[in-house]
Amino acid sequence: MTLRAENGATWHRVPGTLGYSEGEGAVKILVVADKVSELIYGPSIHKYFADVELVLSCGDLPYDYLEYIVTLLGVPVLFVRGNHDRQWVQTEEGIQPASPQGCVDLHGQVLEYKGLLIGGLEGSQRYKPGPYQYTDREMRHRIWRMWPRLTLNRLRTGRYLDILVTHAPPRGIHDREDRCHQGFASLLPFMDRFAPRYLIHGHVHLFGRDTRWRSTYRQTEVINAFGYRVLDVEVPAHGR
Ligand SMILES: [Zn+2]
Repeated sequence: MTLRAENGATWHRVPGTLGYSEGEGAVKILVVADKVSELIYGPSIHKYFADVELVLSCGDLPYDYLEYIVTLLGVPVLFVRGNHDRQWVQTEEGIQPASPQGCVDLHGQVLEYKGLLIGGLEGSQRYKPGPYQYTDREMRHRIWRMWPRLTLNRLRTGRYLDILVTHAPPRGIHDREDRCHQGFASLLPFMDRFAPRYLIHGHVHLFGRDTRWRSTYRQTEVINAFGYRVLDVEVPAHGR
């Protein structure tokens, strides 16, 4: 039972206190957000992360970083975009939508991987003109559009969702008071209704070891993925 974490420049192992179980029936997930880690973006990726089975990106990371990860680890990389992500790229054919090659855009999607039900919602609160920013009303609308798929999950597996990947945190959990870093209030009724086991987000940078990066909201463990973390997430028996 392990949880590896990077907080700032520090590499350390944290005893498994979150209830993740390692071994059969668990999926080892690398979650990344907001800050490029030298341990990942270099030759040591194989040393530390060779056993990772899935990568989830919570946004505000260079696309070539995600492309490096998907190429070197050879496992699925599912991502949501953050407010700092690039929308367009200049190519020989002109301006094209920018996207990390070989990775899967999770925004508004509900997917299943190795028995885990995973959904995603990109962006931050709207605070200036630009892409990947939403009002809470817009975020609610996007959540409604996920509803049929979540309901199907429930009928099929008994669960709506196991992991929700977002860029911004829920309102009041790990967020800040400035407009840019306020969380989405609409994520609170999402957790009330669909009870994902994990909500993994980025956007709020952690400085020092005292910054709170995990919290429990009802049945959901809310985790700030700033930098990276490795989680062993158990697959419910009837979900396999
Ligand atoms: Zn952000």
